[in-house]
Amino acid sequence: MKKKTTIMLSTAVITTLLSFNTLVQAASDPEIRATEYNMDVRLNPHKNQLTEKVTMHVVNNGKQTVKNLLVRNMAHGVLSYDHHHFKATKNAKTTIKSISTDGKKLSYTTGKDKSNLFVNKTLAAGESTNLTVNVITDVPKRADSFGYQAINYGKVYNLSFCFPYLSDYRDDKWNYHPYFDQGENRNVAISNFHVNFWAPKSYKVAASGQNSTKNGKTTINAQNMREVAIVASNKFKVDHIFTNGVRVNNYYFAGKNSKTYNRLALMTAKDSFTIFTKKIDKYPYKELDMTEGLLGKNTGGMEYPGLVMIDGTAFTKNRTKERRQMGYNELTEDVFHEIGHQWFYSTVGSDEYMEAWLDEGLTNFLENDVYDLTYTKSKAFVARLVHSKRYNHKLINKTNNLLTKAANKFISDPKQKSFYVNCPLNHTQKGVDTDTMAYDVGSSFPTILMVAMGRNKFFQALQDYYHTYYLKQATTQDFLNIIRKYDNSKKVNYVINKFVDPNYLR
Ligand SMILES: [Zn+2]
Repeated sequence: MKKKTTIMLSTAVITTLLSFNTLVQAASDPEIRATEYNMDVRLNPHKNQLTEKVTMHVVNNGKQTVKNLLVRNMAHGVLSYDHHHFKATKNAKTTIKSISTDGKKLSYTTGKDKSNLFVNKTLAAGESTNLTVNVITDVPKRADSFGYQAINYGKVYNLSFCFPYLSDYRDDKWNYHPYFDQGENRNVAISNFHVNFWAPKSYKVAASGQNSTKNGKTTINAQNMREVAIVASNKFKVDHIFTNGVRVNNYYFAGKNSKTYNRLALMTAKDSFTIFTKKIDKYPYKELDMTEGLLGKNTGGMEYPGLVMIDGTAFTKNRTKERRQMGYNELTEDVFHEIGHQWFYSTVGSDEYMEAWLDEGLTNFLENDVYDLTYTKSKAFVARLVHSKRYNHKLINKTNNLLTKAANKFISDPKQKSFYVNCPLNHTQKGVDTDTMAYDVGSSFPTILMVAMGRNKFFQALQDYYHTYYLKQATTQDFLNIIRKYDNSKKVNYVINKFVDPNYLR
């Protein structure tokens, strides 16, 4: 997710550095996982309802027999949250119709959190089975990553956190975390998804993976992905570019500022792919869909493998000139941030609830201290749009120097306070909220490490981390092992000790 921020370029670094003022081991694949998903999903826009049939091929690669399989229906968690916070969602519900294997119905129990469906199905080591879940889920009326909104006398449906999936079975237990609206709670292994999605013919559909639509039926093929997200609207316009071997599709709404939105979004996508490919390495997929939407007042965007949602609130409605101008800068930050998650979250997975900094912190670092500190065409275009003459190479150099200076001050301060990045979202350090930990402290840690190690060595380590955990899941301990492989100096360990809480290291 990208939190809304109004920090402008010149102060971004300083604010990041001044504002910050548990162990996890899961490199391998889970012992039990779903290797294939076959999904039939029907969207009924009259009822704002999804009818879903999800069949997952579950394989037990572990050494033990399990007595039940944990299916998660996260829609229940989202809707429970919505009911408490948004009146318009009060009638929206999700109902499991059946869970079966090879046509035989299976019973299940739920815990306190009804998102968890413990299905009574024994699976011995080496065995596999197909589980089919039939569910009917209402789409809530909410500006969110799961919800629908009216737009230009039409509608847009953001569909995520609403498709049942198999939880990860790691370290002899099912791993799951409660739905967390301010952040994320995902931790799923890579699978292959084959989805048939039906919507009225007037709808254009964006989705993870590659998709094509004919007569209202969209066929989605998403290989090697952690999940699938779908966005559908009867008001979408579509444009695309090819960059660094990737097709980037931009789905956006018509309107007074739509041309600028489209141009700037695609320009930023191009800068993003160029910078990430050079600094880290190649994006694993052939395509990326960007979808404009209304995501609520605190959210600038949301990430999924092969798809990013971007908040277009500043562009879609009549706004003051000032709001729109701020919107240009926000748009570049949102697009760059969400595309950054294709590297850290989609490709290198992590447990978003237990170690949120591994995806949010590293992505925020890319946004604030890589993209913002590189001269780009997209930022130059923003400067032209807002009639600013301040954006130039000189400013970038000056900000880079300020960053180095501030980081060195941190490193050389013997009384420097510790700020921990790796606490679970429900156990952050006293006085530090979850956002500050995941985003601000989470990006300061890699920034200061970069200065301590020197840029070349740091990016070599980051590339190594990316290659080692490519389409796998990494932990803070895994990250540290790779950093220390490149630099195990006293200085680097001092930085690590200031940011990593050994109690939560895994
Ligand atoms: Zn994010």
